[in-house]
Amino acid sequence: MAALVLSRAGKRVLVLEKATFPRSKVCGYSLNPRCWPIWDKYGLTHGFDQLPHFDIAGFTLEKEGEPIVRHPFRGHKTRTIERGVLDQWLAQEAQKSGALYKFGVAVRNISEGRVATSSGDYQAPIIIGADGRNSVVGRMSQLARPPGPCGRVGWQAFVDMPSLGDHVHMNVFPEGYYGINRIDQTRANITIVLFSDTKVRPDEIMRRYLPEASYKSWKSVHPISRRPWNVTDGHAWLVGDAARILEPLTGEGIYSALATGEMAALNILSIPRVGTEAATNNYRRQHRQLYGSRTGINSMVRWALEYSARSTRIMNMLSLCPALVGLMVEWVQSPAAPHSTLPKTFDLTQESTPPLLQA
Ligand SMILES: Cc1cc2nc3c(=O)[nH]c(=O)nc-3n(C[C@H](O)[C@H](O)[C@H](O)COP(=O)(O)OP(=O)(O)OC[C@H]3O[C@@H](n4cnc5c(N)ncnc54)[C@H](O)[C@@H]3O)c2cc1C
Repeated sequence: MAALVLSRAGKRVLVLEKATFPRSKVCGYSLNPRCWPIWDKYGLTHGFDQLPHFDIAGFTLEKEGEPIVRHPFRGHKTRTIERGVLDQWLAQEAQKSGALYKFGVAVRNISEGRVATSSGDYQAPIIIGADGRNSVVGRMSQLARPPGPCGRVGWQAFVDMPSLGDHVHMNVFPEGYYGINRIDQTRANITIVLFSDTKVRPDEIMRRYLPEASYKSWKSVHPISRRPWNVTDGHAWLVGDAARILEPLTGEGIYSALATGEMAALNILSIPRVGTEAATNNYRRQHRQLYGSRTGINSMVRWALEYSARSTRIMNMLSLCPALVGLMVEWVQSPAAPHSTLPKTFDLTQESTPPLLQA
């Protein structure tokens, strides 16, 4: 998203991506409807609608496999799309806008504007770290904070399970929780978050709660949560999970990555007008606002799920007030207030905006 916004404004953008696209990743593949205004703003809605997807009709919360709340979405529906498909599409849109991509190139070090990679060095006045929860850019730029303990691991697999309906199913059990949802008419995606000290493997969870599902292999990711990092020093700018990780259960990580990618790009574009210090302060403030105003429920969910005994108690309470779960689901689904203001002089809805700033 940052590459698309910057290249549409005429900046020279180089994206170094260690994977080759399309690639899968550990994710529930659910897009929060708050993404829709972002696609609209950049003229991407038509392209997005063409991607293979499944529209989820509601949210079912289960405790140890027993449904305690079934909530049909009232207004905005979650859409699931394979990350291999979604991320490749967005990269192609950024490429059409002029961004240059190098795939299979891993960033290894950053020092004084020099980016050392697995295939040579690059120099850049601004470096955006969109490299996920274990961000090399964040660590090498000293934006990382000391790691706190995180005793949870995330797992993901594609699943064949014809009996699965059109809800996303969240099951909380003593060793963690999982989310399972369709990604098309035949396949589903499951992500399981497990406490690492329980020694339980994802296969055992499948046998226990989803014995009819067939799947092949697991991917894993760690950490599931960590303290937020500093977001910028004026030279390096962190976006998405690199800056801050949300609890996966509420499915807001992709939206936050898109929103902060755009936000960082717009602030970088404002540097010639307002100076670096004002731009960095503005990004820090907007970043805090985005997470502060929208992610209260996410923080509560994290608090509730971080320890096994606590999560069991909270699930018992929630089973007594299903209406509260419905309210929380609708709040998480509701569209966001505009998170950033596009400077009036820029029209970034077209793919071929003439250069507005010196590269
Ligand atoms: C179990 C689980 C379930 C989730 N479910 C959902 C969900 O349903 N909906 C939702 O919205 N969010 C979900 N999330 C969160 C979501 O996956 C992330 O918030 C989102 O992917 C963050 O996007 P990002 O671009 O910041 O990072 P990523 O998507 O992690 O992308 C980082 C990119 O950087 C590349 N990279 C990494 N290191 C380097 C390097 N050194 N050099 C070059 N390239 C590098 C990687 O290859 C990758 O392509 C889930 C997370 C987990 C753990």
